[in-house]
Amino acid sequence: MNELRAIVDDIQRLIAGREERGKVATYIPELAAVDPAQFGIAVTTVDGRQYAAGEADVPFSIQSVSKVFTLTLALGMAGDRLWNRVGKEPSGTPFNSIVQLEREQGKPRNPFINAGAIVVADTLLANHQPKETIGEIVQFARFLATDESIVIDQKVARSEQETGFRNFALAQFMRGFGKLDHPAEQVLGVYFHHCALAMSCRQLSRAGLFLAAGGRNPMTGRTVVSGDRARRINALMLMCGHYDGSGDFAYRVGLPGKSGVGGGILVVAPGRASIAVWSPGLNENGNSLLGSQALEMLAQRTGWSIFGP
Ligand code: GLU
Repeated sequence: MNELRAIVDDIQRLIAGREERGKVATYIPELAAVDPAQFGIAVTTVDGRQYAAGEADVPFSIQSVSKVFTLTLALGMAGDRLWNRVGKEPSGTPFNSIVQLEREQGKPRNPFINAGAIVVADTLLANHQPKETIGEIVQFARFLATDESIVIDQKVARSEQETGFRNFALAQFMRGFGKLDHPAEQVLGVYFHHCALAMSCRQLSRAGLFLAAGGRNPMTGRTVVSGDRARRINALMLMCGHYDGSGDFAYRVGLPGKSGVGGGILVVAPGRASIAVWSPGLNENGNSLLGSQALEMLAQRTGWSIFGP
């Protein structure tokens, strides 16, 4: 495992030397203000060790990475019935695209594009007030990461609430197709707040550990989901976790992962580790540029790709 320590340190050193750092997301004003010269990485292995480097303790806006947690919760509530409302196929379109949604009568392709995550948020609202649902999601993130200090960045949530015009369009469009049970404002209230969860790489990599360990958090011994369900969430992350860059990520890294426009990526190496990287500058598909490069290095050096060493 000293080898892993050396690999993580090497990655941090190599990434620090990179000049091209991508562009921070500007469509959410609060994210536009984040300093792009930051990079963090944390690897938590299934035997409970953590190897971190760079800005691994700095909380950042996890944005769409939170969709992994809301999907897990929604599957717990609705089980396979969820798949009547949202598909399991890669979209091949940008995260906020509306085009496909019209052709497919308001049923989103998968739970990780914005439209799909909005349907997931609607599912979580059943028999709840928005505040209760948001509280449950925060509690779940804390439970997964075994860290009670995790909170929502209210400034980011407000920033998105004020400027999330496309998400409002997606939600109203689906409501028009009869695909949402609650008013768009309520559903988006939940959606914007879970996207605004702030977590560090260390916290995020611990939160993903159940997916690397057959559904059980090996650090606490608590079962989060069945092994079957963990495997399926991983499959969705592999196929759909990076929007229209999912194929390229599978090709380069070969591990299930979910990215967010805050520059974070959560990656699962089944049976081995959960990894979180963060660097705010994004590539052309809206995925962290340096984060993706770091993960490519990690997969190469460890041989952890699910497609073979
Ligand atoms: N909250 C962001 C949005 O809805 C999430 C997008 C992302 O992280 O990819 O636009």
